[in-house]
Amino acid sequence: MTSVASSPFSPRLDIRRFYEGFAAPVTELDCGQKCAPYNASGKPFCCDICHAVPVAFRQEWDYLRPRTDLWHAWRGDECACEPVDPLTLQEQTPEHLTLLACLGPEHCQREFRASSCREFPFFPYITADDRFIGLAYEWEFEEKCWVISNLGCVTSAYRAEFIRTYDVLFEKWPDEYESYYATSEEMRAFFAEKRRRIPILHRNGGFYLLSPGSERLTRVDPSAYRRFGVYKEEFTTETRRTRRREI
Ligand code: SF4
Ligand code: SF4
Repeated sequence: MTSVASSPFSPRLDIRRFYEGFAAPVTELDCGQKCAPYNASGKPFCCDICHAVPVAFRQEWDYLRPRTDLWHAWRGDECACEPVDPLTLQEQTPEHLTLLACLGPEHCQREFRASSCREFPFFPYITADDRFIGLAYEWEFEEKCWVISNLGCVTSAYRAEFIRTYDVLFEKWPDEYESYYATSEEMRAFFAEKRRRIPILHRNGGFYLLSPGSERLTRVDPSAYRRFGVYKEEFTTETRRTRRREI
């Protein structure tokens, strides 16, 4: 059986191969256990439809629909406390993507996770002079996602798969490249306004801070990266505990 999707959308993607090549966990530990206690629903933030609506390529949806009951097309009423008109978000979503909702983390099927589940909390960072240099994170999740406050925990296997996946995708699909180019540009504007540098998990394996104006890179130790919200306090408490143990 071929796994190439029958979608009219181009390019035709081999979704099975795409999923097999992009399956490594982001961190060695289950990061969902780190963030879920801070979410009122008790779910990891990225698996809670009230915080994030998953998106998939339309070819993925063609692939997933006959193979699993995990997903349905997003209706907008899945977050009971905050239903929204689906048209508002659909209008902001590029044509080649579709919004989905899953059965929830207690019913997750890892092999059928969508591309947005696999890339979260990262996206491919592209410089103003057109180079895909590595991973940057979804900055609006800074206060929620534990991984963003612990970038040093991201495995090299995940980083390598991420880079390989997007190298292949960008070669086939210039529209995807353009879409991430725009996201990278948006991130530079946001960080420039805040007078902050952008953490980059570089494709060479190093950790860097990038100046949003000049895009100058400075190599750093990942422990120097900023932490956010409750994870900042968590780190401080942990450090204090360690110090007490050391005395
Ligand atoms: S990626 Fe972030 S938000 Fe998602 S489960 Fe891990 S820590 Fe939580
Ligand atoms: S499919 Fe799994 S990883 Fe993706 S949002 Fe649902 S529970 Fe989370």
